[in-house]
Amino acid sequence: MSTDIDVDQITDVFVRIHADLLVVGDSIITDRHHASSGNYEDTDPQNQIGGLIPAFSLSGWLRHGMEAVIQEYGGTACHPGESNANFRKEAIYNRDLESGYHEKGSCVDDHEHGCVVFDLFGGFGNNPGKVMRRPIRFSPVRSGVDYTRGQAEGHYRRLNRNIVSRNRDDHRDPLRNTKLDAVGNLDGCWHLSFRETKPEFLGILAEAVAYLDNHNTEFMHQLGGMRNFGGGIVDTELLNPLYEERELRRVFNRAQKPTKAMGGKDEMWVADYLPSLQSALAERVESA
Ligand SMILES: [Zn+2]
Repeated sequence: MSTDIDVDQITDVFVRIHADLLVVGDSIITDRHHASSGNYEDTDPQNQIGGLIPAFSLSGWLRHGMEAVIQEYGGTACHPGESNANFRKEAIYNRDLESGYHEKGSCVDDHEHGCVVFDLFGGFGNNPGKVMRRPIRFSPVRSGVDYTRGQAEGHYRRLNRNIVSRNRDDHRDPLRNTKLDAVGNLDGCWHLSFRETKPEFLGILAEAVAYLDNHNTEFMHQLGGMRNFGGGIVDTELLNPLYEERELRRVFNRAQKPTKAMGGKDEMWVADYLPSLQSALAERVESA
């Protein structure tokens, strides 16, 4: 087999995201306006609405996973917030600094590019970070989903909730109605691209995605809102970066099993790639 891919060549990776219910804090951008030609009803099960899940929530979720991995490797992670952002929260910031975080950007003193989280996510104005996070485009029509372009199958729903009075005399009169944008039965790919590839980047990504999958029911590592109601529990895996496009598509084809070649690539990834990526990560964590 001639799948000898150099780590430097791996610039685009796909993270599988599989969730029964996702409520994204920054909201979902839908195409319901032109999909419904003016007849949109929230509750109509025939709605065929697609949209975009913005990258902000996904990015925060991944970053949390990476922070946990760095701490497991014995390092401290870059704090996601500016040290001077909100003085009312100073006590929390200082508590974080004592439990596995360092002040955002302070790591550039130790290492030219800062710690690996700083290097990936960036920090100050002129430093955008080396991993580009994209939104996920979802569609309820599976045949229209291109997984190799970071898309997913998913069903948009607007959830209506009545907030009722808890005062007994009010007989559960609704106080107000809230609407939430949600995506149900989401399954697809989140496309990440590295502006520059380093083995420790792939190492921390592989470790963080595995960590998030193992801790997916923990409140901290769920994605988006409605966590107390089963939202945001994500099954996730890093799709083998050695796969070709047609192999990536095959992962999502329920009628086809993985090929022998895919199995071979899985073994190769675990045996020949992961160990060196993990030691590159360990080295980097030690140095900054
Ligand atoms: Zn840092």
